[in-house]
Amino acid sequence: MSVNSLFAILPPVDAILQESLLTDVRQRLGNEPVKLAVRAALQRLRESIVVAEDSGSAESSDEHSSELEKLRALDRSAISARVAATAVEILKQEYRPLLRPVFNLTGTVIHTNLGRSRLPDEAIAAMAVAAGSAVDLEFDLESGSRGDRDAHLEALICELTGAEAATVVNNNAAAVVLLLNSLAREREVLISRGELVEIGGAFRIPEVMESAGCKLKEVGTTNRTHPRDFESGLSDASALIMKVHASNYEIRGFTSAVPETELARIARAAGIPFVSDLGSGSLVDMHRYGLPPEPTVRATIEAGADLVTFSGDKLLGGPQTGIIVGRADLIKRIKANPLKRALRVDKTILASLLAVLQLYRDPASLPQRLPLLIDLCRPLSEIEAAAERMRPELSAALGAAYSVYTAPCKSQIGSGALPLELIPSCALAISSQAGDSGLTSLAARLRRLDKPIVGRLADGVMLLDLRCLRDEQGFCEQIAALATAHSGAGEEEAERGERG
Ligand SMILES: *Cc1c(COP(=O)(O)O)cnc(C)c1O
Repeated sequence: MSVNSLFAILPPVDAILQESLLTDVRQRLGNEPVKLAVRAALQRLRESIVVAEDSGSAESSDEHSSELEKLRALDRSAISARVAATAVEILKQEYRPLLRPVFNLTGTVIHTNLGRSRLPDEAIAAMAVAAGSAVDLEFDLESGSRGDRDAHLEALICELTGAEAATVVNNNAAAVVLLLNSLAREREVLISRGELVEIGGAFRIPEVMESAGCKLKEVGTTNRTHPRDFESGLSDASALIMKVHASNYEIRGFTSAVPETELARIARAAGIPFVSDLGSGSLVDMHRYGLPPEPTVRATIEAGADLVTFSGDKLLGGPQTGIIVGRADLIKRIKANPLKRALRVDKTILASLLAVLQLYRDPASLPQRLPLLIDLCRPLSEIEAAAERMRPELSAALGAAYSVYTAPCKSQIGSGALPLELIPSCALAISSQAGDSGLTSLAARLRRLDKPIVGRLADGVMLLDLRCLRDEQGFCEQIAALATAHSGAGEEEAERGERG
């Protein structure tokens, strides 16, 4: 049968739409998307016929021409069923959730690229309620008049931090920009040269200053800054003294920074506010959970900061937000800035943040209730036991080309929190007979699973740090699928490389 006659027996779209395989999706998704998918599936089939025909005539008797033989053997109704099946596959891809759950086995607990903290059930439930209903977001039920979006949270944030007032925006980057723009537009912000950091992505302090309309006034040197550097940097143009938590790096050796109490004193004497961008900003002393200490918001307020900015989704373990706390008069000016409106937080996020903050009223139970702390505080022995349990399954699934063993490793908290402090953990370590190319192809196969597994490659080994693995059964199912997965084109390529 020639290509043209094969084309001629392809069923029309309307006929394929009658396939029983498509009844259910047509009901769920509507006719139009299904029709588009059938058209796309037909087009795919036409293209594969042309490709098969071309390679057949070039006498390269590979899989393409045998595919052509198979097609020639089919009748019209069999082709129709086949196209319908392809359409279902296409729709499955198209309607896959936008954000796919993955196993974060990178060893970085707060992983910005993987969505940072998992939320506690209380917060998820609160989000769902707010999402599905009209709520008193900016409505005062007492008086029946317009209310304030921040009012629901302010009292609790103040209780937990010792601050006078608080406001919430989309993320901490927004909090910093809003603060600077509200209090220091077209004026100078004094900051130590040791803190002119890049926090990640495009968030670099000098550029943030510029985009907020402020003038950066650098004082001191990279490794040492003294009180007199700030004092001599002051002028009529000064609007703020700012401290930025150095998040993801540390300067060691011959160093000196001006303590917050001292910065607060200098700012007060000059009649300007002292503000501190904590970044992670912990609400409780992490030391009590056996974790490395991180400056708390309360301690920073007590040291004399007039305002403190911090993230809601780093060490706090809540939804993506930026929180500004401190003096009521300054918070009032910030809230009056029209930018605040542009950076305000959605009702579901506020509901979820409130639920997370409520857990903080009982710090003793946090390691059992807040997913972030559950992960960070997970006992090493438990992680090791999980690794022992999973090892044979993974080993069997990967076959002889790989060896799998359990290995001690170090997790990091991530997102700039406690950057140099690592927590002992345990990993499934995988090495490949094919070396790095074998591991790279394995990493790709793990990413292609229904629920992808993301580990990390280090020194010729792939590590799956099991600290954040909660669903062991789900993990085993994915591993099993790995063994039976049909290899896609890229995979065959990679596997060829592996053997070579
Ligand atoms: C992370 C961080 C930010 C940015 O916070 P996001 O919540 O990611 O917007 C700003 N400043 C510091 C010091 C940080 O560590």
